[in-house]
Amino acid sequence: MLDFEPLALSAGPYLDLTCEGGPQLIGSECVDCGHRLFPVAAVCPNCISENMKPLPLSREGKVYSFTVLRQAPPGFESPSIISYVDLPEGVRVFTHLDMLPEQAKCEMPVRLKAVDPKTDKFGRKVLQFKFAPVGAAQ
Ligand SMILES: [Zn+2]
Repeated sequence: MLDFEPLALSAGPYLDLTCEGGPQLIGSECVDCGHRLFPVAAVCPNCISENMKPLPLSREGKVYSFTVLRQAPPGFESPSIISYVDLPEGVRVFTHLDMLPEQAKCEMPVRLKAVDPKTDKFGRKVLQFKFAPVGAAQ
């Protein structure tokens, strides 16, 4: 089993819990070529520019694809759903879906939902988020 301390985020936060209107993901946009991505990045993977700016992302998107995990690692619920969600900014986010496996469908509209932070084995708070069906209780 690997036992190493995860790297700290180097380019800033990726989830703002203080926004009016609910939690918001923060991505990056390259000022030089316009490439957008999530999470926050210090260097553009498209043109290698370091001229990046924060990009507040939409709270709603659509499920691109998903899979159901029936053998989850320790600390995760089982079954759980991992997914890619496409946001209107052209960014694809790797995330968990907060719904029953039989509810999940490709192209379904989903909305960002903050989850209570967990504490990792190093005692640090770990921010989490999921996407839930649009209209579900937040
Ligand atoms: Zn770029």
